Amino acid sequence: MNQPNTTTLGGHALPSYLDPAHLGPWGDYLQQIDRVAPYLGSLGRWIETLKRPKRSLIVDVPIRLDDGRVAHFEGYRVQHNTSRGPGKGGVRFHQDVTLAEVMALAAWMSIKNAAVNVPYGGAKGGIRVDPRTLSLAELERVTRRYTSEIGLIIGPSKDIPAPDVNTNERVMAWMMDTYSMNIGETATGVVTGKPIDLGGSLGRREATGRGVAIIGTEAAQRIGLELQGARVALQGFGNVGSVSAKLLAQAGARIVAVQDHGGTLYCGGGLDPVALAQHVAAQGSVAGFAGAETLAPDGFWDVDCDILVPAALERQITAANAHRIRARMVIEGANGPTTPDADDILNERGILVVPDVIANAGGVTVSYFEWVQDFSSFFWSEDEINQRLAQILRGAFDAIWKEASEHRVSLRTATFIVACRRILQARDLRGLYP
Ligand code: GLU
Repeated sequence: MNQPNTTTLGGHALPSYLDPAHLGPWGDYLQQIDRVAPYLGSLGRWIETLKRPKRSLIVDVPIRLDDGRVAHFEGYRVQHNTSRGPGKGGVRFHQDVTLAEVMALAAWMSIKNAAVNVPYGGAKGGIRVDPRTLSLAELERVTRRYTSEIGLIIGPSKDIPAPDVNTNERVMAWMMDTYSMNIGETATGVVTGKPIDLGGSLGRREATGRGVAIIGTEAAQRIGLELQGARVALQGFGNVGSVSAKLLAQAGARIVAVQDHGGTLYCGGGLDPVALAQHVAAQGSVAGFAGAETLAPDGFWDVDCDILVPAALERQITAANAHRIRARMVIEGANGPTTPDADDILNERGILVVPDVIANAGGVTVSYFEWVQDFSSFFWSEDEINQRLAQILRGAFDAIWKEASEHRVSLRTATFIVACRRILQARDLRGLYP
């Protein structure tokens, strides 16, 4: 495996987050950055900017549990880059969240936001907690205390959180309210992904999955893959996976396999994604869904399909399983699901990888629409939102496809080229302070 190039530090000790030994997804991101460096021309002199987050905040989140005891959770907010505008990116509640993971997720937001040209930098947050172990009241207290602690660095023109894994509209409502109470005025623009009644946007909840389907359709056309009858395997059936499945099925595709934390389903004739979403809402997992065969978890990677949609967590497609994948293309609904060495294996095998930083950019694009609507207090129709979303995503994908053809690089490297150019151009124009 290529190690990231971290030798350009002028004799100073490596910051811990540049130490190749324990990097996790941040190490994957550093390798992706190293791959783009040769294509940046004179802007390449700013590349070190992208290899370290601008600002990382670690907070203690103490709450009173329902039984009267006090519990402490670790929370983070990382602003990777703000050259093009305020930080922007979701907040994830998960027991395995680490600082290095949030750093990577924040960095991927910088790339994603620049790839679709929304005027944001990149940021991400997380709390190291399994929300399934908390009551609703405890979840609210964790959310409010975390928001208060990161209140130092967030704000409608500073850094705007949004939903991510295990967070939703209700969590965003609590975040908006807590921030607003602390500053003494209602600031709807401090978070996106809010309930419609609190300044949320029509179409936001479905936007990430809709974007996966839009970009998937574009990519399929370019490789001559007919969506009608195409077999789709999905990993993850949360907000992203379920909406992607529904829209791909509407376009004629067959959902032949679905895996989540509870189980792995297979049905050659195609699963009904709407019924499956209802089952998951009631049962918490795809396990036990009637009319499907159950596979061993590892068997998911051998499923014969045309399109694979990883829509769960990072580092799922690795050198250990990439040679088994039988799809013609992978559309990354999740952030960071494919490691760089797995990327190489898929490339060599002629499997097209449509990277997260464009494939799942629909969510943040409609977050941008929500933020604009909140600032102007003028709200758009759902049709208008979906049309503008499709227009932005198709335009961005087209530019990325051209870049990839021109330089004969993967779509991931092409997306990084487009995005890094924009970020570093802004960096260059702004110059260094002081
Ligand atoms: N969490 C989503 C993502 O990873 C959305 C972020 C946002 O809307 O700010 O892209």
